[in-house]
Amino acid sequence: MILLLLGPPGAGKGTQCERLMLEYKLVQLSTGDMLRAEVKSGSELGKKAKAIMGTGKLIPDEVVIEMISDAIDLQKDANGIILDGFPRTKSQASSLDDMLLSKGLYMNHVIQLDVDDNKILKRLSGRFACANCGAGYHDIYNKPINEEKCDKCGSTSFSRRSDDKLEVVQERLKEYQAQTLPILPFYRQKGVLQLIDGSKSVEEVYEQITNIIG
Ligand code: AMP
Repeated sequence: MILLLLGPPGAGKGTQCERLMLEYKLVQLSTGDMLRAEVKSGSELGKKAKAIMGTGKLIPDEVVIEMISDAIDLQKDANGIILDGFPRTKSQASSLDDMLLSKGLYMNHVIQLDVDDNKILKRLSGRFACANCGAGYHDIYNKPINEEKCDKCGSTSFSRRSDDKLEVVQERLKEYQAQTLPILPFYRQKGVLQLIDGSKSVEEVYEQITNIIG
């Protein structure tokens, strides 16, 4: 199964992916995570990506398209794949379509998590993650049980994304509206698009997703 989660930054795609991966044994492919790994490694690509990501703008299409194609090839034995953060432009969506076809795959579901901008700003300003295993948390909505330690791996080290700063988030939202929203008609026309209310609780959103994917 190929499942695509779409939605503005902070819509909860990563949180939902964590559960879907566990319960449906799916693999998450997140271009944002891949790019952050490049930045961390200090590679040439990472250096270029860091400068762009710091402004909230998008990385050039050809870079992320190649990245995702290679990543899909590595998942031949997976039960299914959740795409998170890709495609994000019309050109990425149509390249993905050709790419899947050439690999004998197709998109099963595209789920759009709708959340209004005010809620996004509140969510992003409080989010942080375990620096060791990447588990996501929030200062108000989703604290670790023991505030000092990650629930999943016990690490005491946490980090915050530098692009969750207010001015960068505003730019990321603008990019989402200008570049990503226009891909919805593409998937609507294919009959695979479902819209859900992403402002509900993590549990309720998860239920809406599982009702769709079965
Ligand atoms: P994310 O973690 O998905 O919010 O992505 C963080 C940043 O990585 C974005 O603001 C972009 O700069 C970059 N990025 C991630 N995925 C893509 C993509 N599919 N196309 C272009 N840029 C991307």
